[in-house]
Amino acid sequence: MKITQVAVSHLNVALAHPTRTPIGVIDAARNVVIRIDTDSGISGWGEASPFAPITSDSQDSNYIAAQQIAALLIGHDPREIEARMTQIHRFTLGEPSVKSAFDMALYDIAAKSCDLPLYQFLGGNKRAMRTDLTIGMQETVEQTVALAQDILDAGFDAIKMKVGRADLQDVPHVRAVRELAGPEVAIKIDSNQGWDYPTAVASLLAMQPLNLQYSEQPLAAWDYEGLARLRDKVSLPICADESVFNHHDALKLIKLDAVDYLNIKLGKAGGIHTGLKINAIAEAAKVKCMIGCFGESRLGLSAAAHLAMARPNITFLDLDSAYHFTDDPVVGGITYDNDIGGLLHLPDAPGLGAEIAPESLKNTQLVGG
Ligand SMILES: [Mg+2]
Repeated sequence: MKITQVAVSHLNVALAHPTRTPIGVIDAARNVVIRIDTDSGISGWGEASPFAPITSDSQDSNYIAAQQIAALLIGHDPREIEARMTQIHRFTLGEPSVKSAFDMALYDIAAKSCDLPLYQFLGGNKRAMRTDLTIGMQETVEQTVALAQDILDAGFDAIKMKVGRADLQDVPHVRAVRELAGPEVAIKIDSNQGWDYPTAVASLLAMQPLNLQYSEQPLAAWDYEGLARLRDKVSLPICADESVFNHHDALKLIKLDAVDYLNIKLGKAGGIHTGLKINAIAEAAKVKCMIGCFGESRLGLSAAAHLAMARPNITFLDLDSAYHFTDDPVVGGITYDNDIGGLLHLPDAPGLGAEIAPESLKNTQLVGG
């Protein structure tokens, strides 16, 4: 099987509720979609959702890089994922988002060529998986509580709160959500690097009675030693997100005893190929993984969900980016249960089981063909 053509397109979708974090506001998905065509008639789909404050790449840079990577891959076998990802990683150190788009398209083709859904191709089996739903940083506690009420009304059993305010200003927001939700609902907080060390210690100690599930990226991405010191100081589990892009980062964090959990995102790791390596290192150290997202449509979310379903060590899901899309450009793919909040359903179609409706794709460039 050989790659004959790659289509590179823009995919833009507005969000009904922008998410405010300490490092920027996500108000729309400005993504890049690729479709890899082969001489066998099988095509694979992938999606990049760059978020420059974390991934250093953008829709513009991904769009150009995708066309350059596509030119490298024409004529090669897409099922040789190891060799194709080596080509892609050697081409550029950066552009992790668009690397993940190619990676998921390669896995899509490989699984389709075996006539298996991707999670089964990866050796997994179906299990019930529920995502949380995220509340961005709000101005007032009343606004935070109103959004939490919506999530509880929709039947979710886990809420993720963006925090990272100065001093102890996060505490009343988190306390109010715990009081509203009662003891059973899981609440996790994500600071997106927003705290310095003293604020992190003070905030987490003040939140100790609130029975939180974990604290995600409380400190700056580079501050591995700080994470380790913080983990010694507080009883709440510490989860690294911006600190861990790949398996090398995972190994360093684990050697430093800096983390309880690792947040795998395909857009940081450059796809499933490296995501599997992160999870393997974590599993060896008895560290659980979560899988998160940027602003992917249900296409990119499907890839993440297939990986999660294939590896039970991936325990926590934060796959909610498409939940507030104003349009749904995806045909097939994961869906959210109508009755059980956050429960994901993955299709049993071969590969990802998802593609983008042609009318949603703009500025398509064809490479090869
Ligand atoms: Mg995070």
